[in-house]
Amino acid sequence: MAQLTDRIAIVTGGSRGIGRGIALELAKRGATVVVNYQSNAAAAEEVVEQIKAGGGTAQAVQADVSTDEGANALIKAATDAYGKLDILVNNAGTTRDNLIMLMKPEDFDTVIQTNLRSTWLCSKAAVKTMMRKRYGRIINITSISGIAGNAGQTNYSASKAGIIGLTKALAREVASRSITVNAVAPGFVLTDLTKDLPPEITAQLNQNIPLGRWGSVEDVALSTAFLASDEAAYITGHVLVVDGGMAM
Ligand code: NAP
Repeated sequence: MAQLTDRIAIVTGGSRGIGRGIALELAKRGATVVVNYQSNAAAAEEVVEQIKAGGGTAQAVQADVSTDEGANALIKAATDAYGKLDILVNNAGTTRDNLIMLMKPEDFDTVIQTNLRSTWLCSKAAVKTMMRKRYGRIINITSISGIAGNAGQTNYSASKAGIIGLTKALAREVASRSITVNAVAPGFVLTDLTKDLPPEITAQLNQNIPLGRWGSVEDVALSTAFLASDEAAYITGHVLVVDGGMAM
């Protein structure tokens, strides 16, 4: 298992679901983790307590990363506390699904801002400090919806496809400073985001997964931890699909 001893990491949306799993995995490998959340302080504190109980170091930081102030304050909180930032996982995300005929423009804007704008804002603030240290790992959580498209998710698919373009462009910009920028594209993972899908859709999805099961939070967390490690030093601009074979 690749170790992350002495690394300082931020996980946006680290309080629940996939982000929670990533925060726990990075901490297990020795990283100090800043667990960002938007509104659920209790969930974030639970993650921090679990990390501390395992002997790790973590703190929760509230910030709405879709806003300039929130994203900048989050990166500043980490660099003020620890003097550097090695790993940024842009995980915070949301959905507002509907067919395009029924989708409101504000549902398009909310999803683009929460998923894509936040990734751009946090990355912009983070590379400033990473470039100074000539080291960094940025991992952006996209989705197979951004690769294959998904009916009812024109907003979400656009945000996740945008994250893939952002990942590749930024990877080229910062490669000379030994900063890598990669994306992880999960298939379907059971979290608060997906728990209300109708059973008929779930059954249909299962038939389309060659490995025959939904992904787990741990499946995504392990891939993310790998990309955050020194073992992935020669990988940049890559989209690691973690979907049980669904989108191939
Ligand atoms: P989730 O369980 O709904 O958790 C979302 C997390 O994001 C929460 O910690 C939430 O904080 C945080 N968040 C939302 N908006 C935020 C904002 N503006 N600022 C800061 N934090 C914010 O979602 P999930 O299923 O774990 O998804 C995590 C990521 O994986 C998302 O980017 C999602 O698109 C992607 N993904 C998920 C799946 C899946 O099947 N679940 C598949 C592919 C990709 P609070 O707790 O404070 O609300």
